[in-house]
Order: sequence, then structure tokens, then C-alpha cells
Amino acid sequence: MHDAFGRRINYVRLSVTDRCNLRCTYCMAEDMQFMPRRDLLTFDEIERLALHLVGRGVKRIRLTGGEPLVRKGIVDLVSRLTNLREHGLDEVTLTTNGTLLPELADNLAAAGIRRINVSLDTLDPARFAELTRRDEFDKVMRGIDAARSAGLAVRINTVAMRGVNDGELPALLAWCGERGFDLAMIEAMPLGDVSVDRKSTHLDLTEVRKLLQERFTLSPSIHRTGGPARYFDVAETGTRIGFITPLSDNFCSGCNRIRIAATGTVYGCLGHDQKVELREILRAEGPGTLDDALDRLLAGKPLRHDFDIDRAEPALTRHMSATGG
Ligand code: SAM
Ligand code: SF4
Repeated sequence: MHDAFGRRINYVRLSVTDRCNLRCTYCMAEDMQFMPRRDLLTFDEIERLALHLVGRGVKRIRLTGGEPLVRKGIVDLVSRLTNLREHGLDEVTLTTNGTLLPELADNLAAAGIRRINVSLDTLDPARFAELTRRDEFDKVMRGIDAARSAGLAVRINTVAMRGVNDGELPALLAWCGERGFDLAMIEAMPLGDVSVDRKSTHLDLTEVRKLLQERFTLSPSIHRTGGPARYFDVAETGTRIGFITPLSDNFCSGCNRIRIAATGTVYGCLGHDQKVELREILRAEGPGTLDDALDRLLAGKPLRHDFDIDRAEPALTRHMSATGG
């Protein structure tokens, strides 16, 4: 699949639920209205859609949400998707808040997951409780240990925020290094109405890189994961740090992805409302129409997001958890 700008699309982020057991302040409001469960694609529908996409050249699928591990039967879905490797899929990965890994890590590994991203913005339990509005820090720590024991490669994702966790970013990099984890830092994006003031907490990652360079030796890495992170090798730890800079350094020219919400709405870009609806097509008709809808999506896929931290309103009312972060 190619879009109108000649970008090859071979990566799908697939949200399996918009629900979550945490309420990170930059991601959700406390009282979120979630989608009715009957509107979600069933596992059969997801599997059929994924097979179709693999037939059109998709190589990697990342499961996300909301919190993907709160969807009942998630391990079964993972097995069904990893089986698509017979049809040309390279990899199924997962982004999770880690809280359910203590019980699920082994089963996920057995179902064919090899790499996961775990989101962790702080190593301070009290700050974690404040940031996520839930007291689940210990579970995340146990979850990360369980993932390591299950043999999963872990990358930690950290949203860097001024006045919130900027003081502990070097410690986080050291902590990841001790465990052999890569770390990716992310600039918070203005998506959905939330209680935090994103402007005052906005932190340009160029600043963070300079801060880290006071303590670590960073050199540009050739490592690529097919995502927007730009990586540096960390000499002291033998691990890598990636920077995801939607606001300070646009990376849209290399975009390779589309995003499927749990209801079967497919978005061409995280920062726009351009979309097609696939659920009714999957429920009613044949693959011809699926192709038509995907072609329409590709033809209209925006060139770039236009996030602007200085705008008072969020770029979109849609929350990150609805599209699949
Ligand atoms: N619940 C899972 C988790 O937290 O990893 C998966 C979904 S979550 C939406 C995916 C990633 O998006 C997390 O790393 C989270 O920190 C990040 N995220 C959420 N809202 C964001 C925002 N407004 N800007 C930037 N990153 C955000
Ligand atoms: Fe849940 Fe992930 Fe959003 Fe946090 S970032 S509220 S864990 S979906």
C-alpha cells in the first residue's frame, strides 16, 4: 500500500479497546465515556481484517489501546495474529501500561510476542499514583520483571514533562540501562480534553538530550524499529535511547502507518480526523469493498499532523486512547 505522497504503508497500530485501568492525566479525563462493547470488532473480524491487510503488504501489527491487556481473551487474539506470520506478517508487538503483565507475560510470550513496549513515566510510586490516578506502581514493577523472565525484549516509553518528571529522566535512563532495556522518550501531544495544562508541561526533547549528555555518552545509532523514534547508543549502558518528537522535530515524511480504532474506524493520521469505517463492511460485505475503503484512506492520508502546543484547544477532541497510541 502507498499513499498519495508515495509513502509505503506496511505498519498497523491496532487498538483492541479504548478502556483502561489507569487514567494518565495527559491521556484521559477521570470520567471517560468509553465505546459500547457491542461496537468493538470481534476477534473474528479483527483476524479477517488483519489477514486482508497482510495480503496488502502489512508486515507489522502493534496492539494497543486503551490498555490492550484489559480486553478479555487478548492472548487468544495474539495467537490468531501471530499465526498470520504464515501469510507474510513479520511481527506482532504490544504497547502496555504493564499492570497486567504479572499474570499475562508468560502467556503472551507463548502466544508469539517477542517485544513489548511498557509505558512508565516515573520511578517514584507517589508520582506514579498522581500521574495515573491509580495506585498500581508495584504491579507495573512486577509486570516488567515478569516480562523479562518470560524472555520478552522490553522498551520503556516515557512521556517527558516539564516540572513533572524532567528531574528523574537521567535516573530512568540508568535504571533501563541496568536492566538492558531501551528507552523512548515522547513529547506529549495535544489530543483530547484532559485536566493537565500541556503547554506548561511541554518539554522539548532537544533539551532532554542535552541534559542526558551531561551524564551519558550518546552517539547517533543506526537502529530503526520502523517507528518515529530517532535512536542514540548509550555508551555507559550498552542500551539505546530514542526520542519521539512530534512537536519539536516533525517526522511525518517517513510515516509508514495507519491506525485502526477498536470499532473498526481507520485513521490515516493520529493528528487528523481523516478516516474510513470498516466495521459495517466487515459485517456485511466482501473484500472488494474493504479494498475500496482502504484505497480511499490511502488517497486521503494527510501529509503531516499539525500539532501546535501554543494553540489553546487540543488539535483533536479525540483522545489518544480512542485512536490507539
Ligand atoms: N495503555 C497502553 C500504554 O499506556 O502503554 C497503550 C496505549 S497508550 C495511549 C500508548 C502510549 O501513548 C503510552 O506510552 C502513553 O504514554 C502515550 N500517550 C498517551 N497520551 C499521550 C499524549 N497525549 N501525547 C503523547 N503520548 C501519549
Ligand atoms: Fe491508559 Fe495508556 Fe492512556 Fe495511561 S496512556 S490512561 S495507561 S491508555
